[in-house]
Amino acid sequence: MDTLSHFVLSVLAGLAVGLHRKHRLEFIVFISFCSVLIDLDHFLVPLGYTTLYRSFHNVFIVFLIPFMLFLLACYLERNRSSDRFQTFFLLLTVMLVSHIIADMVAGPVQIFYPVSTMPVSLPKINIQATDQFLSPIVNSHGVGMAAYALVVFFGVFIHDIRYHQRHKNLNLSEALKHAISDWL
Ligand SMILES: [Zn+2]
Repeated sequence: MDTLSHFVLSVLAGLAVGLHRKHRLEFIVFISFCSVLIDLDHFLVPLGYTTLYRSFHNVFIVFLIPFMLFLLACYLERNRSSDRFQTFFLLLTVMLVSHIIADMVAGPVQIFYPVSTMPVSLPKINIQATDQFLSPIVNSHGVGMAAYALVVFFGVFIHDIRYHQRHKNLNLSEALKHAISDWL
């Protein structure tokens, strides 16, 4: 997927995660910009530093590091009025994970690099109602979109749970109940 599409989708994901608890648009645009920086991989290949888009397109860069930083920010900001850093790293994690899912729709990505060079892609499926109607009911793009939406909703839930924990001084299970009831 091209970098502009990633940027636009990241802004939409950021707006979705902040649906209940609004964030400033420039904050979301800034994180979206940060999230597309992993596409520097596209420059490393022609420059000869690597042969595949994998230096930044892997689970360590897109999930483990930003999510650990989110948990660290939650701890450091536990007694502070601002939750800026935890929000930044949560949105960044959501945008980066959904970025790599969108890339996997287009083709295989070595998501476990440098531990493994095994290419991983979304399952190639194409379910059609009849041979006469060529537009499929479900194909790989639909699976990718569904996975993308799940990642965004996961981010919304964590964001809501943190909101209830911080602003209503609830424990984790109480905050989880409140976050679910927000949607029902
Ligand atoms: Zn990419």
